[in-house]
Parts: sequence; structure tokens; C-alpha cells
Amino acid sequence: MDSIDKLINIFKKFPTVGSRTAGRFVYYLMKLPKERIDELTSAIIELKNKIKLCQLCFNPFEPFDTAQGKGNGLLCPICQNPSRNKNLLCIVEKETDLLSIESTKKYNGLYFILGGTVATMRKEDMSQLRIEELKKRIRGNNFSEIIVALNPTPEGRTTSVLVESTIKEVNPSPAFKITHLAKGIPVGGELEYADEETLESALEGRK
Ligand SMILES: [Zn+2]
Repeated sequence: MDSIDKLINIFKKFPTVGSRTAGRFVYYLMKLPKERIDELTSAIIELKNKIKLCQLCFNPFEPFDTAQGKGNGLLCPICQNPSRNKNLLCIVEKETDLLSIESTKKYNGLYFILGGTVATMRKEDMSQLRIEELKKRIRGNNFSEIIVALNPTPEGRTTSVLVESTIKEVNPSPAFKITHLAKGIPVGGELEYADEETLESALEGRK
């Protein structure tokens, strides 16, 4: 395989990128001066070297400057922010869903990134999700409400059932509040493609 095909095949695996777009990326790169290519490759390497997963919510973050007394290198800025509501937890499928909810600026609680959704309750599927980590997170905290904010896709719904039973297993009190985003996000749609207003009202109307 020549280097053009090799790179096209790499870009094709990116989310939402098909063969044609992958080809455009490669021909665009070919026209760039060497300095820009160096800049790109070192930015990719830096991403891999510097980014860590938050130990509480699994949000990727770059540990901030500890010399200035900020940050402990283990938790992301959201988890370390003292003004966030520590009694409220929002469970999302993936990082981009967290970003979508953050961009509404209407949510002030904490997060937990589940790491995906499953189509079935089979053990091998479920093992891809952070279910054990979720149990640990709920046990170690005093949440008054947990929002299950998974995408309204068939997989998202199956996973919501699983997540809810996990929460109830850890905290069986019927008074414990488990809520879901209000309807409004198109059925089969995904949080990351919902506009801010839709997401904002889905969040505010949760029940
Ligand atoms: Zn975090």
C-alpha cells in the first residue's frame, strides 16, 4: 500500500469521515509546507502524552499547572471546581455528550462518562462499559439526583435500563431520584447533534 492509501485508510476510521473526505484530507496535507506538518504531528503526539483520564468522571483533560497550586493532576477541571453541585450526577455515553451539555451552561453538577452503549445485556457487551466504576462512584458519594442522559437510540435505551438497575442496586431507596432528559431530542438522534436550545429544555424538563 502506498503512503497515500495508507493515510486515507487512517482518516476513513475517523468519526463521520468517509473515503471521499479522507482523500480530501490527504491531498490537503500534501500541499502543506513541512513546518505545518511538523506542527500537526507534534500536536497529535502531545495529545497522547499529556492527556489523562479524570479518575472520577473519566473526562480526558490536561493536568493543569500544579506549581501554581491549581489542580492535583488526577481530577479534571469540572470535578475540581468547588462551585459545581456535588450532589448532582449526570451519566453520559461519551466525551462529546459531556461537551454538548456543558455548552448549554445550564448544568452545574458532575458527570460520569459511561464509555459507550450496548445493544444487548450480554456480559461481553456490558464489559465494555464502566459499570463497576459507576457503582464505585455512586457508593463513594452523596448524590441526591442522578440524571441518566444517554442518547435516545435503541442502544441508548437498553443501556439506560442497565444503568438504572445498577443505580438501584447500589442505592435501593425509592426516595432516591433518578431522572431522564425530557423528550425533545429527536428519536434515534444523539445529544451531540442536538442544538443547545433543545438540549437545554430537555435538561430543564427532566423527570
Ligand atoms: Zn472529572
